[in-house]
Amino acid sequence: MTQVIELSGTARRYDGAGPPALGPLDLTVAQGEALAVTGPSGSGKSTLLNLVAGLDRPTEGTVTVAGTRIDGLGERALARFRRDRIGMVFQFFNLLDDLTVTDNIQLPAQLTGTARRTAATRAGELMELLGIERHARAYPGRLSGGERQRVAVARALVNRPALLLADEPTGALDSASGEDVRALLVDLHRSGQTVVLVTHDLALAEACATRTIHLVDGQLAADTRAEALR
Ligand code: ADP
Repeated sequence: MTQVIELSGTARRYDGAGPPALGPLDLTVAQGEALAVTGPSGSGKSTLLNLVAGLDRPTEGTVTVAGTRIDGLGERALARFRRDRIGMVFQFFNLLDDLTVTDNIQLPAQLTGTARRTAATRAGELMELLGIERHARAYPGRLSGGERQRVAVARALVNRPALLLADEPTGALDSASGEDVRALLVDLHRSGQTVVLVTHDLALAEACATRTIHLVDGQLAADTRAEALR
């Protein structure tokens, strides 16, 4: 089984005193898994996500994502790794409001040097897949929250990332839009996408995750497979 995430003896300490904010812990996530990360505020969820995304480095241990050991990479190599291998979706969408939907989705592909035409084709496929093609020329400010999150998911997928990371993707949505994004993440997981999501939304974790880890004080307090939950 191919592992998409491998943490070994991994810890992140923000200051010298006291226990680390996260770890030390060992964790592997296989290709095709949909992992939900839960835990109270301050338990280390964001710290874990940042380490896996290559937005931060551990103070101990190793972080290997999609076969690349990223804990020792320099800033430029890390930025390239994030651009090429990681798709990220955030609570507040983080779209660029002065670019159209199509241009928002294409942007990460263009940053990797993909030709504009190829990027446009890929963006078109994703808009169709996610049911937002009628908004292709709209600006994000005109869309509902659920539609904006679909645009953000399309943007996250444009470079075919090994890993899709989602940080409270339904956190800013009304219940109908939340349901819509939940269904979308379930579909993506069924199509084989490896997903890690941090969420307080139990309905999302239950619908989408094949596995849930629960963090308490930076430690793995539980690691449950969906088969055991249902
Ligand atoms: P969660 O995402 O579960 O709310 P975090 O990963 O944000 O938890 O935080 C875990 C712990 O690390 C908390 O005690 C938090 O205060 C601390 N922490 C997080 N980021 C920083 C930082 N940049 N500097 C210092 N302490 C931090």
